[in-house]
Amino acid sequence: MLIHKQLSQTPSKVFANFGYKPGGGYNKDQTIAHVYTVPWWVDSLGNGDYQSIFISSLINPQEVAKILEEVKPDILSLYPTNLESILPFLSDEVKERLKLVVVHSEMSSKEERESVSEKLGGAPVLDEYSSEELTRIALELPCGHYHLCEDTVRIDVVDPETMKPIKNGTGLVVGTNLLNTAMPFIKYVQGDLVTIGEQEPCDISWRQIEKIEGRQNDAFLRSDGLIIPAGTILDISYRWMFDIGINIQEFEIVQTSPTSFRITLKEENLLKDPEKQQKSFSHLYQLLSIVFGQDINIDFSIVKNFPKESQRKRRPIKREF
Ligand SMILES: [Zn+2]
Repeated sequence: MLIHKQLSQTPSKVFANFGYKPGGGYNKDQTIAHVYTVPWWVDSLGNGDYQSIFISSLINPQEVAKILEEVKPDILSLYPTNLESILPFLSDEVKERLKLVVVHSEMSSKEERESVSEKLGGAPVLDEYSSEELTRIALELPCGHYHLCEDTVRIDVVDPETMKPIKNGTGLVVGTNLLNTAMPFIKYVQGDLVTIGEQEPCDISWRQIEKIEGRQNDAFLRSDGLIIPAGTILDISYRWMFDIGINIQEFEIVQTSPTSFRITLKEENLLKDPEKQQKSFSHLYQLLSIVFGQDINIDFSIVKNFPKESQRKRRPIKREF
């Protein structure tokens, strides 16, 4: 029941947040296309209103552009690297229709977003700072500020040494998710650094942050030099869990060379079921080889527990070369 409540509440909040972005211009007849690895929970908010279309980010950019031509979205939501890869294939018709592009899950600079917006013919490209644990943390709004989403999350920016909240300057993001009743996150250390600057006058009263400094996870590297963002690796792991219906308690994905990976999981049911282990391993291999090529090695292990001493500072996605 709790889970149902969480799922039915969250999208409307999410859509409400999106509503701010085009300056209130978002209405029920418009369509959002999510280029992502796992489908969104809902494809509309009932009666076909506020339609949300899912396009897999694992298919090639030319194909994605073709689907966008059929779907004719008004709003596009995707990773900045995916946006860049589909940009050369977007038709003028698709570009002209776009009212807004929301980028998320990876770092992008204001200059990069403005340059893409120009290439799109003017549709604003705005950043969404979010995480699975804390949901929407801050949105870059048409006023030009990043505003904390104070109706979805309570954020403290703390000194990394003393862990005491600071009013100005650069500190760690610590958040309490106000939506997730199924799995509460209270004073969760997100691991990102942000800078709080001068609060400029604005019609929106949510606190402003000046800059998002960075994420804790590493990007992976392909043998041809292409950077694969940590967000893509995280997406692959979601897609994997979603497809095979497992419930991972903890995980670690380490890239040890351009073609080798060490993957460690804590999953009790999988630990007891060698057949399912084999199936899930093959599926993971399949997903990773779409991105990294067939020539990959995976050292896959399932553990009862991760070592205690490494739990606090462990990064789940890291590159070791
Ligand atoms: Zn503002």
